[in-house]
Amino acid sequence: AKAAGRNTLAFFDPEMQVRLQARARLEADLRQALPKGELRLYYQPQVDERGVVIGVEALVRWQHPVRGQVSPGEFIPLAEENRLIVAIGHWVLETACRQLAAWAADPARSALSLSVNVSPRQFREPDFVDRVLETLEATGAPASRLKLEVTESLLLEARDEARSRMLELRARGVGFALDDFGTGYSSLAYLKRLPLDQLKIDQSFVRDLLEDEASEAIVASTIALAQSLKLEVVAEGVETEAQRAWLLAHGCRAFQGYLFGRPVAVEALELDA
Ligand code: C2E
Ligand code: CA
Ligand code: CA
Ligand code: CA
Repeated sequence: AKAAGRNTLAFFDPEMQVRLQARARLEADLRQALPKGELRLYYQPQVDERGVVIGVEALVRWQHPVRGQVSPGEFIPLAEENRLIVAIGHWVLETACRQLAAWAADPARSALSLSVNVSPRQFREPDFVDRVLETLEATGAPASRLKLEVTESLLLEARDEARSRMLELRARGVGFALDDFGTGYSSLAYLKRLPLDQLKIDQSFVRDLLEDEASEAIVASTIALAQSLKLEVVAEGVETEAQRAWLLAHGCRAFQGYLFGRPVAVEALELDA
């Protein structure tokens, strides 16, 4: 069976082989990205109904020396598979918290909250809670301004463990947002069980507003659900004034999307209305 297995390599789909090689190369490069300083943190504003910036989401970027900017949609899943996400996640958290500490020290910025994406693998690391608390302490960032964005998949996998970790961090003031709401295997039961502060309506639903009645129904009921559970709700991927107006009319009070600002380097971030 082993010999046959080896022989099949000769009949390997050449296209697939090219793709696997490209992936292996990308993975090797990604291993070097952190020590070589190729990662950057970008920031995208979140605004209230008046357009005032109330928060910022940190989004990682990889400036590849040859390929240019590689999308996190491409390298984060890769990093998840090989555990590089843990080191990348630490770097993101530390960089974000340093920025948050700088904002907190500036009276004009001190109310800003900073949202950081946490991948399931990173969250499951045994020392995750300690890492977050140590990072807050080392950087001087206020815990009450830090929001960790988690996804439904994480909550399904290790529910009790996830819950106790969230409770531990929450007790220190750290907030939690449920990212990409509606795209996972939603069980509404965990919304009640988990210490969440915010629901983020996935951009796939926002994109189809005013075009697709099903998306409108999902978004409207998500907003209503969030309100009745006393959770903040943020609509992601808001690109048009028509989408914003629709969301506002249905009770959404916080928005994120290209209409208000793309993710940019901190120097380019416009925080004043
Ligand atoms: P996400 O957390 O759902 O982030 C929102 C994504 O939507 C970002 O893509 C953002 O640039 C994009 N976006 C924002 N506004 C608009 C809009 O109006 N229209 C459209 N079409 N897109 C918009 P990005 O930066 O490419 O990140 C993709 C995903 O990669 C993120 O999705 C998140 O899951 C992951 N990611 C990014 N940074 C990190 C990180 O530091 N750690 C982890 N674990 N994951 C990250
Ligand atoms: Ca996010
Ligand atoms: Ca999202
Ligand atoms: Ca997403």
